[in-house]
Amino acid sequence: MNDLLPEESALWQYLESAVREVLAGYGYQEIRFPIVEQTELFKRSIGEVTDIVEKEMYTFNDRNGESLTMRPEGTASCVRACLQNSLLDNQQIQRLWYHGPMFRYERPQKGRLRQFHQIGVESFGVATPDVDAELILMTARLWKRLGISEYLTLELNSIGNLEARENYKVALVDYLSQHFEQLDEDSQRRLESNPLRILDSKSAQTQALLDQAPALADYLDDESSDHFDELRGVLDAAGIGYSINPRLVRGLDYYSKTVFEWTTDQLGAQGTVCAGGRYDGLVAQLGGKPTPAIGFAMGLERLSLIVQVLNKVPDSINNNPDVYFVVAGDKAKAAAFQLSEQLRDKIPSLKLQLHCGGGSFKSQFKKADKSGASIALIIGDNEAEQGVVNVKWLRNDIEQNTVNNGELADLLVAALN
Ligand code: ATP
Ligand code: MG
Repeated sequence: MNDLLPEESALWQYLESAVREVLAGYGYQEIRFPIVEQTELFKRSIGEVTDIVEKEMYTFNDRNGESLTMRPEGTASCVRACLQNSLLDNQQIQRLWYHGPMFRYERPQKGRLRQFHQIGVESFGVATPDVDAELILMTARLWKRLGISEYLTLELNSIGNLEARENYKVALVDYLSQHFEQLDEDSQRRLESNPLRILDSKSAQTQALLDQAPALADYLDDESSDHFDELRGVLDAAGIGYSINPRLVRGLDYYSKTVFEWTTDQLGAQGTVCAGGRYDGLVAQLGGKPTPAIGFAMGLERLSLIVQVLNKVPDSINNNPDVYFVVAGDKAKAAAFQLSEQLRDKIPSLKLQLHCGGGSFKSQFKKADKSGASIALIIGDNEAEQGVVNVKWLRNDIEQNTVNNGELADLLVAALN
């Protein structure tokens, strides 16, 4: 579980506001729900035999002896919140997003933490593939906006309806059972509990076996197959490149039809930046009316890493003040406070650091320079009496000059734009 230090939080704020703007542009609205839920919710939605529920959840009993879990993901909580607050009544369409910490007991490594952060998007009430396309176009727009499009690849698959998957499972298990000894240990275990996850195996030997295995695509139901074709049609028309990955299945039980991931080769092993899919059965499974739904979640740690690795952090993203106010003398101090507040009134976005703690002009100049500010304002008791300040440009060759207090705001606005 990491601390996020000021150095990096500016980048996070930038990423979050870029995401927020793109989502708002498509009509998505923010929902916030608690970090803790009843454990049962995750067991029922994510599935008992998934990695998350089997070994990754932070679960504890509260003082009533009730089992609670720190949310490992947002979809289940989002559905729970919608049902409890009647957001899905009368077949309403809901376009929602959320962000915040998620908790999974995993082996910490680069791009994989125990408390990590996701921005998640869920869209309820639309069964047709236009909304699948909408989600994908929206993510593509975000990558473009962040300048990382070139480095992300869209992987796409359809995992069909429940019946298609059940039929496929039989064929897959049948095939893999004949090669049981060659399977890696995890896959041997999953052969009984969750055979589709074997497609996802990291073992090279298992992957080689899968080359000859029956293909999920051959078991797709007609409806899923049409749905997939239509989605591909929209993506093709929009010029969104993708590759079909027939072994793309998601780790959670509730998906159906479309699944997708945006991956990158820039982050080593943890290359999935954003992952999602359709989950038409989940709302009913959690006690609501049957409601088609689709969503995705992106990991902010990975997004932040890739933007840094690719050097796409805009220069303007920093914690530097615009102006550092150097002050010496008692009268000067009073005047500086007054002037600073006047400037803040006139220029609400101004980042002005008023020097606190005293010290010589020389030591204050050092701090001004180190702060990254582009302008230092300097005031001593003499200037305070005359109603002026000295303006010193810290990053270019313009000569220092003396300005009346009343003219300062206009000067700063012009200088900082
Ligand atoms: P993985 O195969 O990497 O374990 P997952 O299937 O468990 O991924 P999802 O539950 O689909 O991941 O989560 C969506 C996204 O959230 C991931 O693509 C990733 O960007 C991010 N994510 C998931 N787990 C972690 C983690 N432990 N630390 C940081 N980011 C994570
Ligand atoms: Mg995982």
